Amino acid sequence: MPQAQVLGAGPTGSLAALALAQAGWRVQLDDPLTAEALANRSRAYALTHSSRALLEQLGLWSALLPHLAPFRRLELCDRATGDQISFTGADLPRSSPRATDPAVGWILQHQPWMQVLLQALHQQPAVALQLGDAAQRRSGMDLVVAADGHRSPCRQAAGLRHWSRPYRQGCLTVQVGLRGSAPDQAWELFRPQGPFAVLPLGGQAFQLVWSAPLAELRRLEQLEPVAFLEALTTALPETLQPEVLLDQPRAFPLALELAWPLHRGPVVLVGETAHRSHPVGGQGLNLCWRDVQALHQLAQRVVAGRLAARRLPRRYARRRGLDIVMVLLATDALVRLFSNRNPLLLPLRRWALAALGRWPVLRRLSLGAMTLGPCGLLPR
Ligand SMILES: Cc1cc2nc3c(=O)[nH]c(=O)nc-3n(C[C@H](O)[C@H](O)[C@H](O)COP(=O)(O)OP(=O)(O)OC[C@H]3O[C@@H](n4cnc5c(N)ncnc54)[C@H](O)[C@@H]3O)c2cc1C
Repeated sequence: MPQAQVLGAGPTGSLAALALAQAGWRVQLDDPLTAEALANRSRAYALTHSSRALLEQLGLWSALLPHLAPFRRLELCDRATGDQISFTGADLPRSSPRATDPAVGWILQHQPWMQVLLQALHQQPAVALQLGDAAQRRSGMDLVVAADGHRSPCRQAAGLRHWSRPYRQGCLTVQVGLRGSAPDQAWELFRPQGPFAVLPLGGQAFQLVWSAPLAELRRLEQLEPVAFLEALTTALPETLQPEVLLDQPRAFPLALELAWPLHRGPVVLVGETAHRSHPVGGQGLNLCWRDVQALHQLAQRVVAGRLAARRLPRRYARRRGLDIVMVLLATDALVRLFSNRNPLLLPLRRWALAALGRWPVLRRLSLGAMTLGPCGLLPR
């Protein structure tokens, strides 16, 4: 049985460990954090159809269903021009199963996600979990999966290059009670200060992902709840009325990051160890999980005797490069195009949104690239 060590039990590393074990590998999963600390984060992720396909394949989807908030409509608004278009399940590409579930995407909170995932890992006999202790890289492994986050000690020890460019914009996340939006409606608001996502959590609860200059977000983070809600009201369109704070606002810096190459010897980089993007369009974690999907497929080929284990890292890196680079470039281009009031760019933005509104084929292509990844649209 081939053996792997996964360093880092965040959302990517834990899923990678489960995927490898289900492919027939013996897996050691290490993280210095305890299970409680790993689960105890107030975050919510927007899942696309590429993530749904992987979670179904790994048998996690049905356990997650009670915790998923689907959105069946995505409103895209350019706040500088006042233009707005909607995406619905009818705009999904034909290769995604829109007949069975017309959701454009789903919102999943971190806590129930990690609880379901850690429980599945505990029930998997091929996984040895070592949580809460300083992790050491073990020798004699066929594969070492570095999923230890964007500062990755494992990547540094392997001598892999890492390119990082901080954004002037930071990101503030917070959960609020809000009126004026349907419970299955999500919003991506392009404001001159930065993109602002409003994501449904069920009922009148919404997760906000607010991008703006980091110094401004740090100031907002310190405000009393009433003052914060007032600031929020001025940032949102009049139709969306925030009523109550449901958790503590948290601001953090953003950066565009890429490690290269994605492998050395038995080490492969996955998730934020390999790449980090702006949260616009909710691409980050879905991109991380497409790394896991590629790893899963290659690990199955090793067990079936169709790929030598020592060749897996190079094959993985070749398979992932294009998708990662295209998502990093596309999210960066969206931020540059929409985070301003540049009079030279406004006509281009108006034209782009009008074209998307008029031609369903363009909506299908752009939603397809978002939900399956840019490479998911290529013929197989
Ligand atoms: C404050 C904050 C809020 C966020 N909110 C959202 C949100 O609301 N929605 C969203 O989509 N995204 C959000 N993000 C981004 C999201 O958290 C990441 O996309 C996601 O966590 C990436 O998962 P990962 O498993 O690749 O990396 P991580 O989650 O960073 O996991 C890395 C793991 O490696 C472990 N580790 C570190 N060193 C070692 C070592 N030496 N050996 C072994 N393990 C090690 C760490 O303990 C950690 O568990 C947020 C990020 C931050 C910082």
